[in-house]
Amino acid sequence: MTEAKPRNPRFHGRTPRDGQCDEPGCDQPGEFRAPLSPGGFDGPGHYRWLCLDHVRAFNASYNYFRGMSPEQITEAQNPLHGWERATRAFASASDTPRWSDFSDPLEAIQARFAATRPKDRADGRPLSDGNRRDLKTLGLDVDADRRALRQAYSDLVRRYHPDRNGGDRSHEKALQATVEAYNRLKGAAAFA
Ligand SMILES: [Zn+2]
Repeated sequence: MTEAKPRNPRFHGRTPRDGQCDEPGCDQPGEFRAPLSPGGFDGPGHYRWLCLDHVRAFNASYNYFRGMSPEQITEAQNPLHGWERATRAFASASDTPRWSDFSDPLEAIQARFAATRPKDRADGRPLSDGNRRDLKTLGLDVDADRRALRQAYSDLVRRYHPDRNGGDRSHEKALQATVEAYNRLKGAAAFA
């Protein structure tokens, strides 16, 4: 697995660079980033460059929760910290129910399945799976009416018919599928 995005800078990673340790009086190369504030949204500049010895000392004394309110600390200590937020972001980007809405996994699976079920006609007329396949063959939406059905049929027959293609029979299969789909659909409840 490869990572598409560069990782967030971490204070324990070494970054070879010119420049001294930011600890006053230290002349070692500052090759380790030490954050001055927790969280990843403070933007650049909220860190110092330290040498290995000083970043070790910094890590040992670093208090992640410094500057946080009691509520923020409680949230950050929650074992689901981060996960919950990611789930929420995922849910808002999709119409499917969240796993966390359900206590029963089977119920959750069924609800997610229902969310991906093909859409029904706006007029409430029933469509069988076969009807749906035939509509697709004719390039029609589930809400197509009888007029659209006839129009699509005549367009496709004209397009695929050998008489209209200089005797080219390469569309014969498509023509046959078109005729069969139309014949089934014109008798279907949705187009009665
Ligand atoms: Zn140093």
